[in-house]
Amino acid sequence: MTPGGVNSPVRAFRSVGGTPRFIASARGAYLTDADGQTYIDYIGSWGPMILGHDHPAVREAIAGALGSGTSFGAPNAREVELAELVTRLTGAERVRFVSSGTEATMSALRLARGFTGRKYILKFRGNYHGHADGLLVEAGSGLMTNAGELGAAAPSSAGVPEEYAALTLVSEYNDPAALDALMAERGHEIAAVIFEPVVGNAGVLIPTPEFLTALHRVKAAGAVLIADEVMTGFRLSLNGATGLLGLSPDLTCWGKIIGGGLPVGAYGGRAEIMDYVSPQGPVYQAGTLSGNPLAMAAGLATLGALEADPDLYLRLDAYTAALGEGLVNEAQAAGVPLSVNRVGSMLTAFFQDAPHGSVCNYADAARSDTRAFAAWFQTMLARGVYWAPSQFESIFTGAAHTDTELNATLDAARAAFGALPGGTL
Ligand SMILES: *Cc1c(COP(=O)(O)O)cnc(C)c1O
Repeated sequence: MTPGGVNSPVRAFRSVGGTPRFIASARGAYLTDADGQTYIDYIGSWGPMILGHDHPAVREAIAGALGSGTSFGAPNAREVELAELVTRLTGAERVRFVSSGTEATMSALRLARGFTGRKYILKFRGNYHGHADGLLVEAGSGLMTNAGELGAAAPSSAGVPEEYAALTLVSEYNDPAALDALMAERGHEIAAVIFEPVVGNAGVLIPTPEFLTALHRVKAAGAVLIADEVMTGFRLSLNGATGLLGLSPDLTCWGKIIGGGLPVGAYGGRAEIMDYVSPQGPVYQAGTLSGNPLAMAAGLATLGALEADPDLYLRLDAYTAALGEGLVNEAQAAGVPLSVNRVGSMLTAFFQDAPHGSVCNYADAARSDTRAFAAWFQTMLARGVYWAPSQFESIFTGAAHTDTELNATLDAARAAFGALPGGTL
C-alpha cells in the first residue's frame, strides 16, 4: 500500500535490517509497539518530543483547542501568541508559520532569492534541509543512510532536474578556506548560504569556531545567511544553536519542537527581508493549514513549558553527557572502536576508531562501520532500547529520561557491544 511500508524513509530499517516497529502508544520516555513491546525512546519523533511523550500540558492545550474547531482558514489568536513567543525567545523580528521544516527552508530560500535578485544557493555536504528539489543535493539524513557510500553524486534524488541541482553550490562542512574560496569566486551570484548550525543529519557534527566565523563573512558578499534550526531550535537552548553558539543569521528556519509533536514549521528573522513575503511583499508563500489552531496550541504549550523550566537544558546536558561517557566506557571494555559526538541532548556514537569529537564532516562520518552499528542496534532493540536506526542520525534525549532509563540503556549497550564479532566480552 505504502512505498517501503513507511511514510518517511528514515523510519524504515533498510540500513540495519529487520522490520520497523509499528508504534501503538507513547508516554514519557517510552514507546510501546503494536505487539506490546516497550522501548526506551531515543528518537523522540526525530526531535519534537523534548518534553517526553503525552506531556500533560501539551495534551491539555490540544484538548482545550479542540472544542473550538480544528481549522479556520482565517487568522486566530494562537498564531499571534506563538509568533510573540518565538520572536521574544529568538530575537527574530518577523516570523511566518508553515506546516513542516521542508516548507520552512524552501520558503526561506525563495525569500532570499526574491530579496537579493540572485539565483544560486550554497549548502554543505551531508547537511539535510528537507526534501525540496534544490536542497536534495549532497544531502544527509535518509539519503546518506540509504546511499551508504562516500560522496553521493549530486543530485541526491531521482526526479530532481540537473538544472535545479546546478543552482545549488556545495561546500565542505567545517572547511572555512573552501567556503571563503567559493565565496570569493561566486559570492556575487549567491542569494543564500544555508547551514545546520550543529549538524544532526550526518550524525552529529560540531562546527568549529573558525567555520562559524567564515559563515558570518558571507553576509559581506550580500548573501542571506540562513540558519536551519529545524532540529536544533529550542533543543540546544531556548534560542537553539543560535543562542548556544552566539550566531547572528539573517533568517532562521524552525520545525520539530516548535510544533510540540504536531505539524508546524516556521521561518523568520530580519524585518527588512521578511517584509518581502506576500502579501506585504512580492515573494509568494501560502498554506491552507498554516497556523492551524491545534498545532499552535501544542507549540505554545511546549515552548511555554521549556521557558518555565530553564534548568531543563542543564539536566538534558547532564543526562546525555553521562550517556556518552557510559557508551565510551562500555565500548572500550568490549574492545569496540567508538567515537562520540555530542552537543546538549543530541548525540551520535560513530562506530570508528577516531578521537572523540574529531569526526567533523561528511567524509569522516562515512568512514563508520555501518555493519557493526547495525548489529549493535539490533541487540539494543531486542533489549528494549529504540536507538535511531541509522549510523548517520542523531539520537535525542528529553525531559522524561531519568537515571532509570540511563542505567537500563547502558546495561543494554554493554550486552550489545559485547555481542559484536570484534567484541571481547
Ligand atoms: C527534519 C529537518 C528538516 C525537515 O523538516 P520536515 O518537518 O521533516 O520537513 C529540515 N532541516 C533540518 C535540519 C531537519 O533536521
